[in-house]
Amino acid sequence: MPFRHCAFVRLRLYVYSKEIRIFLHKLIVNSLSERTLQIIVTGLVQGVGFRPFIFRIAKKHNLTGWVQNTNENVIIQVTGTSQNLKLFLLSIKKETPAAAVIRDISTIEIETTDFGSFSIRESNDVSEEITEISPDIAVCDECRRDMEMRGNRLGYAFVNCTNCGPRFTIIKDLPYDREKTTMKLFTMCPKCRHEYNDVNDRRFHAQPVACSVCGPHYELFLEGKMISSKVDEIIDTVANSIEKGGIVLIKGLGGMHLACDAFNNQAVEKLRNLKNRDGKPFAVMFRDIETLEPYVEIDYPERQSLMSWRRPIVLLQKKKVTSLPMSEIISSGLNLLGVMLPYMPFHYLLFKSLKTSAIVLTSGNFSSEPILTDNMTALDQFSNHADVIVLHNRDIYNRTDDSVVRIIAGKERIFRRSRGYVPSPVPTSLNTEGIMAFGAELTNCFCVGKRQNAYLSQHIGDLQGIETIEFYEQTITLFFKLFRIKPALAAVDMHPMYISSKTGLAMEGMPVVHVQHHHAHIASCMAENMLDEKVIGVAFDGTGFGTDGNIWGSEFFICDFNDFERVTHFEYIPLPGGDSATEEPWRTAISYLYKVYGISFRQLELEFLKKTDPEKIRLIIQMIDKKINCPLTSGAGRLFDCVASLLDLVQTATFQAEGPMRLESLVKQDCNESYEFTTGQTICFDQTIRGIVADITDGIEKVTIATKFHNTIILAIFDSVNAMRTKSGINKVVLSGGVFQNKYLSVKTMDLLRNNNFEVYSHSVVPANDGGLALGQLAVASKRRELLCV
Ligand SMILES: [Zn+2]
Ligand SMILES: [Zn+2]
Repeated sequence: MPFRHCAFVRLRLYVYSKEIRIFLHKLIVNSLSERTLQIIVTGLVQGVGFRPFIFRIAKKHNLTGWVQNTNENVIIQVTGTSQNLKLFLLSIKKETPAAAVIRDISTIEIETTDFGSFSIRESNDVSEEITEISPDIAVCDECRRDMEMRGNRLGYAFVNCTNCGPRFTIIKDLPYDREKTTMKLFTMCPKCRHEYNDVNDRRFHAQPVACSVCGPHYELFLEGKMISSKVDEIIDTVANSIEKGGIVLIKGLGGMHLACDAFNNQAVEKLRNLKNRDGKPFAVMFRDIETLEPYVEIDYPERQSLMSWRRPIVLLQKKKVTSLPMSEIISSGLNLLGVMLPYMPFHYLLFKSLKTSAIVLTSGNFSSEPILTDNMTALDQFSNHADVIVLHNRDIYNRTDDSVVRIIAGKERIFRRSRGYVPSPVPTSLNTEGIMAFGAELTNCFCVGKRQNAYLSQHIGDLQGIETIEFYEQTITLFFKLFRIKPALAAVDMHPMYISSKTGLAMEGMPVVHVQHHHAHIASCMAENMLDEKVIGVAFDGTGFGTDGNIWGSEFFICDFNDFERVTHFEYIPLPGGDSATEEPWRTAISYLYKVYGISFRQLELEFLKKTDPEKIRLIIQMIDKKINCPLTSGAGRLFDCVASLLDLVQTATFQAEGPMRLESLVKQDCNESYEFTTGQTICFDQTIRGIVADITDGIEKVTIATKFHNTIILAIFDSVNAMRTKSGINKVVLSGGVFQNKYLSVKTMDLLRNNNFEVYSHSVVPANDGGLALGQLAVASKRRELLCV
């Protein structure tokens, strides 16, 4: 019996061991035999050290093969064991370089090939498709350390590597190679070439690689004459000039900057006069995060934005008490300060020599013109105005301003999308191919479509001066070239007088889709949130051309991409003088008062009425009565203007949205009171105006009145949206328009809606203001093309 039992066990062992042997054999064969994969990676994978990264991880996992940039994507063919290939794919996903964004990886097995080694192949312009172009990247820590080390990069202000440096601003065409950038003029010295070719070097295939021997350099100009090209002397002179209250023009990444000491009131005032910029707040660059902490409140997401490689200007709340007060005129008495950290090697070198911990850094131009990029023009225009001019000989091909963001509800919201963000695409769920959206008139950005992506241009500005219009047209041409766009459909604002609309209409032989301004706002927010259905849209801004010929700006829509129904809006009021009323909020205030009180408003005890010339008031009344140059408006921005004027915060605006910004500056968190308003066909604020006037007459604090007014608007939004949900059953609310850049209004509105189980969508990757409008135009055009075969 034991024997037989043993035999049975042996038999079973034999059977098992045979199975195990087969299994092990398969395993060994699978893991040891080599396979070849073709991997295609799309996304932001050029100019961010992606190929060297692939090279390194291929070596690490003992793979042979090659990697190649095309203008469409990055192609990799690799041979190795299954296990190593698996690890390689994992590394691609997990260890991606900081500035790279992988949107898709596709893998197919191809015939096994023995490549012998791993190599980086020459770029190949294979098709009319494109891959993404990297935005410019702030200088990395390692490059900053190189600037401290002996050798060709000691104090060298153009140091860069595959992880940092200029990108979009120097690129002329794709694929991204040195030959197609403004670095083409600089021939690499043997040392730089060695690094460029050494796969183990951080500068392996870094296209703008340079050193003090072979790369670009700065030059110092005094009174139009070149004085020095020694970086030490330049830095010393600039630092000295700033310390003494001078104004310095410095060529940067995407354009020229004007700089002065942020603590020197006189210098800031001089700069303001020079720029003809009465009140618009300036941005300030601080030495580092530690030196800015005494001046501004800063939370974790704000810190993240400030320190990110994109290095935007971040709008931060000023601290009430600071050790050393900064010039008040920088931020024009607002409670926000635009703050940024150094991002170019030159900035770091400068702060090493500067005693002051912060400098005003504003775009080098006269107001309303685009930021200057050209050396000769800079010398022509500023030799008599700036105390010192510092230029460099690396051309700026693509002009970009500093970007501006604000953290609202814990999320970065872009107010001005330019350096560090452009030209990254906005992925959408729509077929955007060949659509060109021309954008708004002010704060213009345009947008081109490729496959399902939307490529929004950098901030162009207000299409009013000839220089800006030229910049607009040149950039359109460049985007067509860079992104291989064959424009097939134009999308323009309905406003017949917009330069952008006229430009679109002038495109020969192209069908044109006209998109209502506020519909475009909502569509823009829907597109970035990948919503494609009927939603409740709330678009609040200053002005936009409506389908009834009036000026809209407080719109409650039931809409999708294709069409919209205007459900309600703020009651129309006459806007005496049209556009000029946006610059003179007191006109709007008179219009509201006249509507609410009739002619007896003139007896009201209001400070601003006492200050205003009675003859001017009489004229405004006459214009309203006779309907002369008094377009009707429902613009939410105008109601904010009116209240800012009633509180005597601003009568003549010195920059866009000054009234609303001053009102928001006053808001306090601990007040839940509000004013009365009525809803019917439209939303009427007569009771609100009466309440405000009563509070002013009663001597109630402005902060309380401003807060009560904000709360009133929030309730008006909520009431209207709630009624729309009851009627339509739609639960998704989309908020867009410049008014939602108001943090208090945005956060409180979103909270109130979410607490009542609404799904709320807002902007984060494109601006809520007109800078994001083109994305909405593009989305509407795409949907109409799909439905109607435009
Ligand atoms: Zn670097
Ligand atoms: Zn060199």
